[in-house]
Amino acid sequence: MSATDTSELSAEDIAKGEALFKGPCVFLRGVASIDGLPAEGRPEIAFAGRSNVGKSSLINALTGRKTLARVSVTPGRTRELNFFTLGHKGELVLVDMPGYGYAKAPKSAVKGWTRLIGDYLRGRRALKRVFLLIDARHGIKPNDRETMTLLDEAAVSYQAVLTKADKPKASELEEVSSEVTAELAKRPAAYPQVLVTSARTGMGIPELRAAIAALADTP
Ligand code: GDP
Repeated sequence: MSATDTSELSAEDIAKGEALFKGPCVFLRGVASIDGLPAEGRPEIAFAGRSNVGKSSLINALTGRKTLARVSVTPGRTRELNFFTLGHKGELVLVDMPGYGYAKAPKSAVKGWTRLIGDYLRGRRALKRVFLLIDARHGIKPNDRETMTLLDEAAVSYQAVLTKADKPKASELEEVSSEVTAELAKRPAAYPQVLVTSARTGMGIPELRAAIAALADTP
């Protein structure tokens, strides 16, 4: 079995993911400084990645909504931690983290987000997993490694999700996913399985929903 094989997911897992994302997804709060974080309670999952990786598109594809996470006109516009509750009982909290690596952002702003993200990741017991989005055409970049190191040091579980998998040729996609899988295998807090997705074609979306729904049950 390759690391990108999701065949171990049962029909029940897939159905659970679908049910969760059919429920409401409600914007809770945008947080620009650590004292604005909502109280911890329900399990949380977060999405992180370089700006322009396709994070807004992926969140919109997951939730089946067009406007939940705004697709960036200017890359790197999401500068807050955006919290949403998900499901009929609001059983899971979804966190859209600011995209990193936006070259035109002022240094002081970058410093501010880096601190906010670091504080959030280190201190959040409710955070079950960070989904680290990687562009399927480009693979892991130096600033993704910085984020991985932060997550390893904070001992926060994370899983790589390749985005825009409709873009590369099948052979290139296979190569990038093998490279990403091999690199993650060396990282202490990384989950070994890499998910391959496309917001455009819907590839891998049911599997990602299932992976997220499985985390809603963790204490
Ligand atoms: P964000 O900055 O990470 O939130 O990225 P966006 O969701 O705004 O997407 C950045 C660009 O990538 C936009 O031009 C999207 O149309 C494009 N994009 C996003 N997802 C996909 C995908 O699955 N396939 C393709 N081909 N393009 C995508």
